[in-house]
Amino acid sequence: MADIIPAECVQTSAPIRWVRVALDVPLADLYDYRSNEAVVVGDRVIVAFGRRKMIGVVVGLPEVPGCDPSKVKDVLAVLKDIAPLSSSWLHFATFAAEYYQRPLGEVILPALPMPLRSVPSYQGKRSGAGPVVRLAKRRASQQEATATSVVPQLNSQQEQAVTALIAAKGFKTFLLYGVTGSGKTEVYLHAAAQTLALGKRVLMLVPEINLTPQFEQSLRARLEPVAGVNGVAVMHSALSDGERLRAWLRVQSGEARIVLGTRLAIFAPLDDLGLIVVDEEHDPSYKQQDGLRYSARDLAVWRAHDLGIPVVLGSATPSLESWANAEKSIYQRLDLPARARAVTLPSVRLVDTRRLQMDHGLSPHLVEAMRARLANKEQVLIFLNRRGYAPALHCNSCGWVSQCTRCTTFTVLHRLTAQRAQLHCHHCGLAQNVPKACPDCGDQDLQPMGRGTQRVEEHLAELFPGARVVRIDADSTRKKGSAQALFASVHAGEVDILVGTQMVAKGHDFANLGLVGVLNADALLFSQDFRAPERLFAQLMQVAGRAGRHSGHGEVIVQTGYPEQAVYQALLKHDYAGFARHSLQERQAAALPPFSYQALLSAEARELTPALDFLRGARELASELSAHYQTEVVLTLYDPVPLRIVRVDNMCRAQLLLESTNRPALQSLLRHWLKLLPEQPDARRVRWQLEVDPLEI
Ligand SMILES: [Zn+2]
Ligand SMILES: [Zn+2]
Repeated sequence: MADIIPAECVQTSAPIRWVRVALDVPLADLYDYRSNEAVVVGDRVIVAFGRRKMIGVVVGLPEVPGCDPSKVKDVLAVLKDIAPLSSSWLHFATFAAEYYQRPLGEVILPALPMPLRSVPSYQGKRSGAGPVVRLAKRRASQQEATATSVVPQLNSQQEQAVTALIAAKGFKTFLLYGVTGSGKTEVYLHAAAQTLALGKRVLMLVPEINLTPQFEQSLRARLEPVAGVNGVAVMHSALSDGERLRAWLRVQSGEARIVLGTRLAIFAPLDDLGLIVVDEEHDPSYKQQDGLRYSARDLAVWRAHDLGIPVVLGSATPSLESWANAEKSIYQRLDLPARARAVTLPSVRLVDTRRLQMDHGLSPHLVEAMRARLANKEQVLIFLNRRGYAPALHCNSCGWVSQCTRCTTFTVLHRLTAQRAQLHCHHCGLAQNVPKACPDCGDQDLQPMGRGTQRVEEHLAELFPGARVVRIDADSTRKKGSAQALFASVHAGEVDILVGTQMVAKGHDFANLGLVGVLNADALLFSQDFRAPERLFAQLMQVAGRAGRHSGHGEVIVQTGYPEQAVYQALLKHDYAGFARHSLQERQAAALPPFSYQALLSAEARELTPALDFLRGARELASELSAHYQTEVVLTLYDPVPLRIVRVDNMCRAQLLLESTNRPALQSLLRHWLKLLPEQPDARRVRWQLEVDPLEI
């Protein structure tokens, strides 16, 4: 080794250590530094990168540096305030980086709480000890152990499911398939308690925590007696840096025995896991849509595989990927056929709107059913997945429609107060005042076009003057805590009619809700995306599941212009299995996922031409590589196309889809391809990004 160490270093008494460091920079390489201090893999270090100082994570201790040793810089500080990241966690992060084709540093660093990866925390105005020591000493206050709630008796199917999960030796993926209200949560809680009792830890992923504090409360009440006070850590993106750091440290130190979190919690630093739970596994919010575009559901399966433990994916409407895996016995299916409360499923009625006289978007059938339920002192939910007052403002004289100046899309009319309205772009956030007259013809008679939740709320208040109407959507819940306050008023029976977007569909158990009315479900039906019917079915099943959970005579009315469509016919019979069979046949015939694997290269630029030119060049390159490396593998390269909403925030967007029936071959092609893409002629003129297993196309 001596011959490669620069002369000036040989003088030092301590041995020279070469360290390979992952940094959160958008380049694909790891960087080598030199350390005079003892350092191990998993340590965090402060290093100079260009003119900046950055925190990186040591991922290797090479014998020799990967570049000229005389050019290698010194590590500025080795941070020893927390234990090094474990090798199994680093192994997991490395898999994620390789699978999603991203630099390792872009996976590792964002997974750490901000104070652990920001240099100013250590060298800025704060105390020299760094924030971690201080915060670690300030333990979460010792709460009184919550009074243990009564543990419900399991029915025989729940019992069988728990037994199967606990009996699993080593890696195994279970698909817990049960309708809304069938008691999946009880299965998770029992299996988690037994896993904790065996001395192992549990990771439980849910799509959403903020909106469902009841779930967190009941989980704490049930599992804290087993996991200990402070034994439950909650991780989600709405936590402050300090809260996230404290939760993370409790997990890393081993104090927290169960982690409940949204998708980012898949990167929680726990090794001695005994069980991973992914609730509502079909939910699109498990997919991160920027940066490292990972699927937490898919990573959960891989992490369980890596650790040799069981993982359970639960849903009333599993993703077709998971369902197909269960059909092929790659996953083991566990069925919960009955509603745990032994009440019947809500009846579903399709109202064909084609020949009906509608009143502000409401059919006479729906209005009549609402009257009956309200007279019976039951609550009604009107579901419309479109917020704002109206999707656009319109001039009846010349046909002008309000449009965003930065995007190729309409601007949505929003009522701010009774007197004041604005036009908002839901894509770039632009807010404009409502014009007093048509910008094209000067006519002052501008009318709202179509309807959103605000307009429906307004009309229902007129139609049912005695009823208390509340709207729950992203606008009415912008202030912190307001969503919880609104939901609490629904639970307390202070609301008669609830108007809401998909926010209301997730996980809420409304005891007195008798009727669900679905407006404008057809909007998703004819989307270009092949997953749209699957998403629509899941959404409708979920919202339908809110009705009659306790009374047992719930009703769902879906207004549609296409009642004969398979998705509605399956909904009528609560027939997920039939819907899945039909959809999988269609997917197979078209060789779409899960019968093939996809990757999506997207590009954006001020003009559309360079974006399309770059993608055409990239397509050519992929075609050459495919011919060169893997002649036997069928790779389908689609033509580059502009996105449906081509311009957003003044950037024009286009995409290129790649598809193959052979996943390893596609992966290896992507690796070669990514190395060459930056050298493409148009690469510097566009912003581009690759997504593996895209969810939206
Ligand atoms: Zn006009
Ligand atoms: Zn816009």
